[in-house]
Amino acid sequence: MADSFDVIVIGGGPAGYPAAIRAAQNKLTVACIDAWKNRDGTTAFGGTCLNAGCIPSKALLESSELYHRLREEFSVHGIKASGVEVDVATMQKRKAGIVKKSTDGINALFKAAGVTPLQGRGRLLPGKRVEFTAHDGSRRELTAKHVVLASGSEPTPLRSAAFDGTSILDSWDALELAAAPKRLGVIGAGVIGLELGSVWRRLGSEVVILEALEDFLAIADQQLAKEALRQFKRQGLDIRLGAKVTAAAVAGGAVNVSYTDGKAVQSVTVDKLVVAIGRRPYTDKLLAAGTGVELDERGFIKVDEHCRTGAEAIWAVGDCVRGPMLAHKGKEEGVMVADLIAGRYGEVNYRAIPSVIYTAPEIAWVGETEEQVKASGRAYKVGVFPFLASGRARAMESTAGFAKLIAAVDDDEILGVHIVGPLAGELIAEAVLAMEYSASSEDLQRTMHAHPTLSEAVHEAALAADKRAIDSLNRSP
Ligand SMILES: Cc1cc2nc3c(=O)[nH]c(=O)nc-3n(C[C@H](O)[C@H](O)[C@H](O)COP(=O)(O)OP(=O)(O)OC[C@H]3O[C@@H](n4cnc5c(N)ncnc54)[C@H](O)[C@@H]3O)c2cc1C
Repeated sequence: MADSFDVIVIGGGPAGYPAAIRAAQNKLTVACIDAWKNRDGTTAFGGTCLNAGCIPSKALLESSELYHRLREEFSVHGIKASGVEVDVATMQKRKAGIVKKSTDGINALFKAAGVTPLQGRGRLLPGKRVEFTAHDGSRRELTAKHVVLASGSEPTPLRSAAFDGTSILDSWDALELAAAPKRLGVIGAGVIGLELGSVWRRLGSEVVILEALEDFLAIADQQLAKEALRQFKRQGLDIRLGAKVTAAAVAGGAVNVSYTDGKAVQSVTVDKLVVAIGRRPYTDKLLAAGTGVELDERGFIKVDEHCRTGAEAIWAVGDCVRGPMLAHKGKEEGVMVADLIAGRYGEVNYRAIPSVIYTAPEIAWVGETEEQVKASGRAYKVGVFPFLASGRARAMESTAGFAKLIAAVDDDEILGVHIVGPLAGELIAEAVLAMEYSASSEDLQRTMHAHPTLSEAVHEAALAADKRAIDSLNRSP
């Protein structure tokens, strides 16, 4: 095998592997080094997303939602089921199969594209050299014209509730549980905490979520967050805001969690505790001295808007650099860098990154929240369309939530779209495309949408921004 490549990518997650594939498509010689090891000792490309994040969580969300709907919602359709049981072992087996298919798929893609896969650790040395240590401990020095760092992130630990893998769990542990705990505690009401809490709530756990912030989903549009909180509470998720965890003690197989709620010290006892307070960049042993690559005060690799580090021909993409920690953001950065290396055009539009929370109802948005637009001082208009007024949503028995569009008053530019409701994660794609093409709300208003579809809600929200919605009363729900 060659020791010299046009491009070496360190990290084979959703930021690294697309960089490697696009570089190969650009006729460059490429190696992708990845250190991922599963708990059974097997290796796999795909990083956090495919092995322990996006894909396994969505597999379990789907299974648990079907179980929940069969028990709670099918009877209204005239479908009666008795003796419904959940078999978590089969659910977990299905999930593992989906993960395996997905990660095997990367090997096949690498093979077809001509990417050299190297499983083990990569360490950047000065002078565009990379030390590769295979899992068997053997070492080689490789050289490249360009190196792309895509080492990802890891769960942020909480000193007052240290992970132990048995009672106090990280998100990966929480995806591997063999049975629904009777009482599940989650620290952090962010994307990951809400998704994991939803899975186990639907499978029968009593779930309490402790969130340090006073505002629910502070990063989201607050009208959207308010509606989502209302729905989650109705589903039985016990979400306690302004709850700062001070200690977690494991005794007799249970976890006693202490927290302050601003007034007094409170406590709650659970069988398993998931700590989901966020993720931090992972750059352990990635950089030798003298590479010229710098980290910021939070540990992210410093890059410019094109993902160039301070060192010549060294790039960094994905969760290990600034910006939202999302698989699709990392993917687009990886593709951009591989195109720039090949002398092609490459750009990421950081203003049009969709965010999705795969709860039921789903939550999705792109662009600015109403709070951000208000703070900017720009005059704006808002259109809201409730799913209660959507024929398709009614047919689906899924009428909770709404679509909301914010546009500028001066030039009608779409500034943000926020959806809470059925398949919001799919519906948001139209808004992303509209914003990518700098569409106005009138552009959306004049675009025909098939009837009856959920996408009509986005169309009607655009119309509502000018008080011209046809199927609703042109007022906020
Ligand atoms: C439970 C959960 C659910 C999530 N759901 C979603 C979702 O629905 N949608 C979404 O967009 N995002 C989701 N995310 C976030 C998503 O997983 C990350 O944003 C994404 O994986 C980041 O991609 P990455 O390639 O930057 O890093 P990673 O996926 O972390 O991959 C980095 C890879 O680099 C390897 N590596 C690190 N250091 C080295 C080294 N020195 N040498 C060789 N290899 C190295 C790691 O082993 C890993 O394989 C979720 C995360 C979690 C935990």
